Amino acid sequence: MKAWEENIRRVVPYVPGEQPKEDKLIKLNTNENPYPPAPGVQKALREMNYDTFRKYPDPAVSGLVNELARWYQVQPEQVFVGVGSDDVLAMAFLTFFNSKKPVLFPDITYSFYKVWAELFQIPYETPKLDEKFQICREDYYKENGGVIFPNPNAPTGLVQPLEFVEDILNHNQDVVVIVDEAYIDFGGESALALLDKYENLLVVQTFSKSRSMAGMRIGYAIGSPALIRALHDVKYSYNSYTMNMPSQVLGVAALRDEAYFKETVRKIITTREKAKVRLRELGFVFPDSSTNFIFARHPQCSAEKIFLALKEQKIFVRYFKQDRLSEYLRITIGTDEEMEALFTFLEKFVNVR
Ligand SMILES: *Cc1c(COP(=O)(O)O)cnc(C)c1O
Repeated sequence: MKAWEENIRRVVPYVPGEQPKEDKLIKLNTNENPYPPAPGVQKALREMNYDTFRKYPDPAVSGLVNELARWYQVQPEQVFVGVGSDDVLAMAFLTFFNSKKPVLFPDITYSFYKVWAELFQIPYETPKLDEKFQICREDYYKENGGVIFPNPNAPTGLVQPLEFVEDILNHNQDVVVIVDEAYIDFGGESALALLDKYENLLVVQTFSKSRSMAGMRIGYAIGSPALIRALHDVKYSYNSYTMNMPSQVLGVAALRDEAYFKETVRKIITTREKAKVRLRELGFVFPDSSTNFIFARHPQCSAEKIFLALKEQKIFVRYFKQDRLSEYLRITIGTDEEMEALFTFLEKFVNVR
């Protein structure tokens, strides 16, 4: 090894789901929304003034911050915006997890947490989910340098009640507690209800799933002004102009169409509940999902085999070749038609074997 190579930062990167290039495929592998963004987004895109592209975008993202503050009935000083919630979460790790004590998050969860902890050299521990894939609250009672978990959790799909989240906050008043609510619009109660009581709570959400805008990269955090100020200081020390102008404008347009948002979320929940019935009929077992995906295994069929067979049919689902997960498929909820194609194939595959 050359001397300079010894000082290279070595990281094992996060591996996102495949984004295949072909047109005709059924894409149920990255929890995207199968419905288009709100009609108001298209209109705003058409009416966009290209001349503004010459200029740097607003570093404070004021338009979107104010609209989010209105939507959630908080002060603009309580809102932080980033390029997808991945950006928001990375900034939050950098800002809040600076203790010598380990940060805590579940062993089975969003796999990016571990990547950021490694990248930023933050010590961490990963308490095991129980055999039903539930988070054990007692694991989070010990001393730590911070806590983060998604609610609902991914890729399990399981949600915890607000009482559970508050219990964890109660036991962790000396560190920052981050609740990653990427899927909260599909089920469960948001920890935003606890903001007034806990200054150390940061709630992170995204436009990628429930608002059909994964490609626009819009994420945000809501918390006390003290937390948001700290996040801004770190962000402006790193890269001030993160969110591009179109995302700022189109994000506002998406928020203004509440009826469309509610309607698409309702459709996905309805399709999900029907999918649970069909999967059960086919012999699959799965934790009860409150998200836009189902994490399922078939006791008689190898998940990897199903995954590969589906891929041949151009139906993409997510498969994790990892300890404790290798028997499962994570299936994003698509449209009714897409799910029907999936079930038609699975019926043949599971029964013929
Ligand atoms: C999808 C997802 C994110 C990141 O979403 P962005 O597209 O970066 O906003 C964060 N956390 C969890 C748990 C997710 O599933």
